[in-house]
Amino acid sequence: MSLLEQTNEIITILKSKKPDIIENIVPDLYWLAPYVVKQEWEKLGDKVKERETLGSSSHSIDGSKWISLRLDGSKFSSVVKMLRNKGIIEPKGFSYKFAKCMQDICLKLIEHFNASLGFTQSDEVIIFIPPSINKNGDLQEHYRNGRVIKIASLAAGIASSKFMGSLTEFCIKSNNIELIFEINNILPHFDCRLGYYDSWEEAKSLLLWRAYDCSVNGISDAVHQSNDGKKILKENTFNKIRWLYKNSYNKINMSLLPRHQAYGTLYRKTKRVIIQLNRNPKREDTDSALVAKERKFIEKEDLPILDLEIKGWLDNAERESDHENKLIGLIENFPKYDNLMKSLKTKFNL
Ligand SMILES: [Mg+2]
Repeated sequence: MSLLEQTNEIITILKSKKPDIIENIVPDLYWLAPYVVKQEWEKLGDKVKERETLGSSSHSIDGSKWISLRLDGSKFSSVVKMLRNKGIIEPKGFSYKFAKCMQDICLKLIEHFNASLGFTQSDEVIIFIPPSINKNGDLQEHYRNGRVIKIASLAAGIASSKFMGSLTEFCIKSNNIELIFEINNILPHFDCRLGYYDSWEEAKSLLLWRAYDCSVNGISDAVHQSNDGKKILKENTFNKIRWLYKNSYNKINMSLLPRHQAYGTLYRKTKRVIIQLNRNPKREDTDSALVAKERKFIEKEDLPILDLEIKGWLDNAERESDHENKLIGLIENFPKYDNLMKSLKTKFNL
């Protein structure tokens, strides 16, 4: 079975079932994906890893291909332990500081490589670089001529450097400048695997597989980080979820565990219409006083990845116009031009 066939088999199962609900744990508390047997996910993971082996041993990638970069913190179980012990991040429980560092890396990599989409969970970041096509629709070479060693080493370098930078910022903001020496000794760093694909449908396999991994590991981590959760670490995911609900769920935020820990964080390029003052209006208070422009922004998605897939919102890497949130737009307010605003909103369906 090919990578695409394996992915489509899983998607068919996901779309044909309802999300699992355990007892009182409603989707707002924790969205549990429809059940797909572990072996199917493992088969998918093996096929994606084959692509990464192929990609990482290539010299360069053709501009018509999708490229995935998957960065992983090197020996991070001991790195995180040291960061906790030294008081650089939270001493126990879910670390919001660590999550913020990973999100910073993801956004930086999306920006640097002009990626369509990025995802981070645990100590891992993945980004997806679309085929290189210019404004006239002509195929071009990828960044740095698509050279694998160049791209992967730059990505690992940027990730490592950004991680150090974000940690350093925490130390400066909390007036613990001496901790910067400790970070320098720990020297956290990342490796990078590169895969390539003929289409977004194929490339998406990596994203779905890591989203599944996050759903299993996020729960395990939450249990592991609880004071007396260690005793049920060997239980299956359903039992761990039951245990979390009974023992440690956050009744204030009404969620079983922090959102990033549960689903990771997904960033996507999104087209938005913004209305702004025309810098050179021909006449005041006329059609030319305000202009509407379409711009691309990188935005956080609110739903778990597998839920987005079920809803068909991952059919394209970048967020499409049929996505309900597109219509919100980013609108500056110009009371003086009320009528003009109204007509532009109608025109752009905002
Ligand atoms: Mg790691």
